[in-house]
Amino acid sequence: RSKRRGRGQITVYSTEIAEQMKRATQLEQALRNAIIANEVEVHFQPIVDLQNDTVVGFEALARWIDRDLGFVSPAVFVPLAEERGFIDALSETLLRKAAEAALSWPQELFLSFNLSSAQLMDPSTAFNILAIINRTGLDLRRLELEITETAMMTDPETAHKIVTELRSAGVRIALDDFGTGQSSLSRLRDFAFDKVKIDRAFVSRITSDSASEHIVKAIIAMCRGLELEVVAEGIEDFAEALRLKALGCGLGQGYFYGRPVDAEATLDYIARKYVDEGNREKATA
Ligand code: C2E
Ligand code: MG
Ligand code: MG
Ligand code: MG
Repeated sequence: RSKRRGRGQITVYSTEIAEQMKRATQLEQALRNAIIANEVEVHFQPIVDLQNDTVVGFEALARWIDRDLGFVSPAVFVPLAEERGFIDALSETLLRKAAEAALSWPQELFLSFNLSSAQLMDPSTAFNILAIINRTGLDLRRLELEITETAMMTDPETAHKIVTELRSAGVRIALDDFGTGQSSLSRLRDFAFDKVKIDRAFVSRITSDSASEHIVKAIIAMCRGLELEVVAEGIEDFAEALRLKALGCGLGQGYFYGRPVDAEATLDYIARKYVDEGNREKATA
């Protein structure tokens, strides 16, 4: 192994790293511009009551299509915005758009919104969210915020304060992606959550892998005892829906019930599913 080859490899790697950094900076600039130009959108995915097949709310999911870069996943641009320190600007726009859309839904339907880890370390988050929601006029009791265990880990004390403040204002809190992160059962005891969302990783294997089924069954039983609502994420087919229903899972979400769609298509969805399913008087009231 020659030294020259070693040096050559180092050059290759540093060129790759430089390329990656360049791409990240381009992405960051494009995202900053998109936020200023108000081009980051919110889509909505239905959450349904599995026992009677009615829609009960929608989760807001950020969507950004860049002219040059094309579709960029929120799993990429949300962490980038956090890292580069402009998650507050992004999140504020998204929450405002989501709340404004929710104003034209039937009042029984809730809006679920994802909080990022940086927001859970910032003591002013609760105040900021309440201010944005109050400005839109959306009833705070229709708002639900999703947080992940991993996001709470960095500063559990601040996260706890934020959760407590929001809950005392009437906002509900859901624990997202349950079962994949550093799942800690003591956190379920020490934090007052309203809901647990079982991660898609378990749901997508529920009909093919009995271990996954047992885990889902145990989470449902535990949540019943703790009086927490349960949502199964990522339901993609009828067999999964049936199995979850049989296990007594209260709520579900996934492509089988509906993909995330824009605000206008969400209203169409509500007109088709919600109104047709015996809620006609409520929807038009
Ligand atoms: P999440 O909060 O766990 O959202 C669920 C993700 O699963 C969404 O991906 C959704 O489109 C996808 N999904 C729903 N049903 C199915 C299904 O049946 N099959 C499959 N394969 N996928 C399904 P998406 O929209 O790409 O978002 C990814 C993540 O990005 C979210 O995970 C959330 O952590 C984050 N995110 C999205 N929007 C926002 C936002 O406005 N703010 C923050 N802070 N994070 C966001
Ligand atoms: Mg979520
Ligand atoms: Mg999730
Ligand atoms: Mg996730």
